[in-house]
Amino acid sequence: VPEGHSVHRIAQQFGRSFVGRAVRASSPQGRFAAGAQVIDGRTMTAARAVGKQLFLEFDGGPWVRIHLGIYGAWDFAGDLAASSPGSKPLASIGAPRRTRVRMAEREVEGCPDAELEAFPLEPVGQVRLRLLTEKAVADLRGPTTCEVLDAAEVERVVQSLGPDPLVGDVAAGEERMLERICARRVPISLLLMDQSVVSGIGNVYRAEILFRARLDPHALGATLPEEVIRGLWRDWCHLLTIGVATGHMLTIDDLDDDAYERALRDPAERHWVYKREGLPCRICGTHIVMELAAARKLYYCPNCQS
Ligand SMILES: [Zn+2]
Repeated sequence: VPEGHSVHRIAQQFGRSFVGRAVRASSPQGRFAAGAQVIDGRTMTAARAVGKQLFLEFDGGPWVRIHLGIYGAWDFAGDLAASSPGSKPLASIGAPRRTRVRMAEREVEGCPDAELEAFPLEPVGQVRLRLLTEKAVADLRGPTTCEVLDAAEVERVVQSLGPDPLVGDVAAGEERMLERICARRVPISLLLMDQSVVSGIGNVYRAEILFRARLDPHALGATLPEEVIRGLWRDWCHLLTIGVATGHMLTIDDLDDDAYERALRDPAERHWVYKREGLPCRICGTHIVMELAAARKLYYCPNCQS
């Protein structure tokens, strides 16, 4: 499941390649045909991420809200502006898809030397929404949510979400998260995943943030000192910033150059506890534990986090 950093990167890609341009919208699969008709031909005026949700605004008022969920993904193709010199544009974010060739200039996942093909490619598979400019195309497949909203409805959705470190005032976000955790008799491991408490944290960041704080995942929100909760928010701000910049959920700080390169290449080198059950803790050597919490896998070190 894409966590908050991915959705911010998707919003940035839309900002670079779609915002300010007239967009042809269609639903090759048909399930979003009426919605696509509402936005077809309009100029995209904004692309915003809040937590795991993406909001695209179109000239004249309509917005499209997209939540990728577990199976959703965007495939971008065409002449995509990179975020900065030397950085690669995004080709695809979301669930991995092996059957589709993804093209973004010369960056193609698993196929780096592919020739630029005819543009735009014919939609392949179940494309819920295709957005097309003269130079770029974005295909959306398998989202949990894809719907047209007006501005007031967008505002209601955003208000129902917990704070996102990259949206609005960061200090105000800290107060909101504190308020939403400090009175709750619910394990902190569940509160961090609750998108109405704080936005954008998924299973990977949840496990890693709790380890970095050496915090028992079973501790109830109401029992945590205020400073601990503030520390969780500040660490989330820190990790999200790195995630958006690199595209990876890098959660181990102070890696030397070699270790950093390894971590970029290999997810197993990136994390303190996530997916490391049975392996020795990087700090104390105790075996990392995995348990199910609300049907999601929770990883932690029973020694460091007790
Ligand atoms: Zn440990």
